[in-house]
Amino acid sequence: MEPENKKVAVMRGDGIGPEIIKATMDLVSEVCPSIEWRILDHEEAYTPSASQFWETLSSCDAILKAPTTTPQGTGRRSLNVMLRTALGLWGNIRPVRSFDPFIESARPVDMTIVRENEEDLYVGMEYQQSAGQAHAVKIATPRASTRLSHYAFALATAQQKNRVTCMTKDNIMKITDGMFARSFRNVSVEYPKIKADHKIIDIGAALIATRPEEFEIVVTTNLYGDIISDIAAQVAGSVGLAGSANIGSRIAMFEAIHGSAPDIAGLDLANPSGLISAAVMMLSYLGYAHSARQLEGAWLRTIEDGILTKDLILREHVGRATLHVGTRDFSTAVKERIGLYPSVLKPSPAFPSLTLPSQPIEMGSPAPPPSPSPLVGVDIFIRHNSGSESEKMRTLSKASGLSLLSVFHRGVNVEEIPLQSFESDQWRYRLMASNPPILEEKNVWAFISDLSLLGFEVLRVETLRQGLSVPMYSE
Ligand code: NAD
Repeated sequence: MEPENKKVAVMRGDGIGPEIIKATMDLVSEVCPSIEWRILDHEEAYTPSASQFWETLSSCDAILKAPTTTPQGTGRRSLNVMLRTALGLWGNIRPVRSFDPFIESARPVDMTIVRENEEDLYVGMEYQQSAGQAHAVKIATPRASTRLSHYAFALATAQQKNRVTCMTKDNIMKITDGMFARSFRNVSVEYPKIKADHKIIDIGAALIATRPEEFEIVVTTNLYGDIISDIAAQVAGSVGLAGSANIGSRIAMFEAIHGSAPDIAGLDLANPSGLISAAVMMLSYLGYAHSARQLEGAWLRTIEDGILTKDLILREHVGRATLHVGTRDFSTAVKERIGLYPSVLKPSPAFPSLTLPSQPIEMGSPAPPPSPSPLVGVDIFIRHNSGSESEKMRTLSKASGLSLLSVFHRGVNVEEIPLQSFESDQWRYRLMASNPPILEEKNVWAFISDLSLLGFEVLRVETLRQGLSVPMYSE
């Protein structure tokens, strides 16, 4: 028995968004007439009266969203990032598959990418505090890393997969990516039947491009997950093929993995498959299992019949002529096949609703730090165009119970390695407690205030804290 009258908020997006959302909504309405649509204009999210927009979203059971354009280099925040963080959509589940033997693909692909969805460099905290340097903040929390790894293993268990691969750059970003990878390893112990391995993201991405059949479930951070899912989808045949589910504790949002494709907008060239496969997941998530099977069946049958959008190539040996069609005719072909099912292509596993075990917050840390963690030093970022002011800083800091440990210009400690050229106007002075080994907060801030009075241009300050067994800052 299927549920009645679930409410779905829809955003039509821009670029190819309106074309693919129309095609998808027509098909969903055909297989599941009881869905109530609430159409929202995504531009409302940016207006002062946005509260109505958020209230409507919160009153719905799911969201179906078409891609939206985000200005590059300048301008407003990405709507997707706003939606994911505001609605607590912590996991982005991206199944990517090839359609062998029908669609030309570089290699066979059948993997699900489980991407962290609220943290990492995507928090969009960027600063330019001087003409010569900018920086971005990358965030990781043990809670989010642990929850996502649990989800990846629970998904592997539900779908009878054998292997979960974590991808990070923990050899370079030892604290942030290190926390993600450690959380993964800690969680993996609870799932002894599933093989857990880790790949550094650069070789991991290269292997997805060349040997994707080696991966079943990949769990990774926000930025890497975005990049590798486009690679996997392109290897499978087209970035236009894959859909995604943004899952949270209360609501889920379904969308294609690709963007608004302004280069083909309005030309009836867009492949609606990514959004259709997202809608299949949405129907399954809402409890409309039969409608989900019907929609996926008709869509896969259309592919088997050789009816494809122009971004795809039919394999020559299939023995059928390709009929290349536009977005509208592809959608009509799928509609005509509702009630029919593929004979070769397998349906996707039903989108599972998973219960995650409760997660102790300290799981991602090497050892839970005492609270509050002792202050053992401070990094002070100062702007000047001349060379290192280490001698002046050494003298001044001594009087405040601090000792100068290093002076970094970008990634180089100029106390150890002579600089070839000054590329930036920012210098990082690392000052540590000399004796006793723990600093008093008020003394540190008094020292910074003194520096400012002496004419130093202090741009920012990072306190250095000690965990139980390891420092909680990069060395
Ligand atoms: P894109 O994914 O929009 O397009 C990349 C290439 O793939 C283009 O050549 C495009 O024509 C093609 N393509 C994409 N989807 C297709 C489809 N369904 N059928 C056929 N061909 C398809 O990436 P982009 O050009 O880098 O980004 C365009 C805009 O989309 C940017 O403003 C970006 O911020 C935004 N974007 C939005 C989302 C989202 O809303 N979820 C996701 C990614 C990018």
